[in-house]
Amino acid sequence: MVRPRKVFAQHWLKSDKALDAIAKAAGCSTNDRILEIGPGTGILTRRLLPLVQSLVAVEIDRDLCALLAKQLGKRENFLLLQGDFLTLDLPSHLGGFPNFQNPNKVVANIPYNITGPIIEKLLGTIAYPNSTPFDSIVLLIQKEVAERLYAKPGSRTFGALSVRVQYLAECELICHVPASAFEPPPKVDSAVVKLRPRQIEIPATDPKRLENLVKLGFAAKRKMLRNNLPSVIDRDRLTQLLEQLNINPQARAEDISTQQWVTLSNLLTSE
Ligand code: SAH
Repeated sequence: MVRPRKVFAQHWLKSDKALDAIAKAAGCSTNDRILEIGPGTGILTRRLLPLVQSLVAVEIDRDLCALLAKQLGKRENFLLLQGDFLTLDLPSHLGGFPNFQNPNKVVANIPYNITGPIIEKLLGTIAYPNSTPFDSIVLLIQKEVAERLYAKPGSRTFGALSVRVQYLAECELICHVPASAFEPPPKVDSAVVKLRPRQIEIPATDPKRLENLVKLGFAAKRKMLRNNLPSVIDRDRLTQLLEQLNINPQARAEDISTQQWVTLSNLLTSE
């Protein structure tokens, strides 16, 4: 077995059950062009390659890249890019490879230490959504982060990340994965989630304002919303707006649904 490196958050998946769940959730077909982030020793890569049109994998670790190139380099539908996914300009690297261009699905067991930035790169932000969204994104991530992605308003885990991601995508829990499914086992439990980028029903008329509102609203989660926003809305005006939206004026940020955040932002924009 290849010795895992802590610095790259390497934990090799070894559970067939988890691999099956990931592959099934991705629903791969021979029309799919997959993007995988952090293939590691290639356990998931090997599972997916026979099912899909093509798979491009981005791996930061040079030694693993050498190993993968040796083992899988001859497969015609496999392309390996060595580099940091967060800074890599994927379209420019795929320019010369028509079969791998514009991947339509992401399937990956990602490095947990950069989960937030990876999701942001895949979905974009409220103000700058990814202009060519993926059909679906299936990720194995830390359970606590997963819970925030699919959290419902009113729950303890509903936070700024929930609103930012749910604005851009539908989020679904596929299954939990115990730490024992990895070698070495991480200190946290994991979960497979599926994100489906989509247009929100009523989008923000001023996405930057919405982004800022959400950031300020959740800055002190325990406080009532009206105490977090005085820098952008007069308290009395906010109380009126919340009443208009049928929201308890004493609500906290975590009680307000993604669509209600958008409506609030749009009402402020139209004033
Ligand atoms: N998918 C493999 C490995 C998961 S561990 C498996 O399921 O077994 C996470 C992988 O992401 C490691 O291979 C690590 O080297 C790689 N990685 C870490 N940071 C990265 C980055 N910034 N860009 C691309 N790959 C990265």
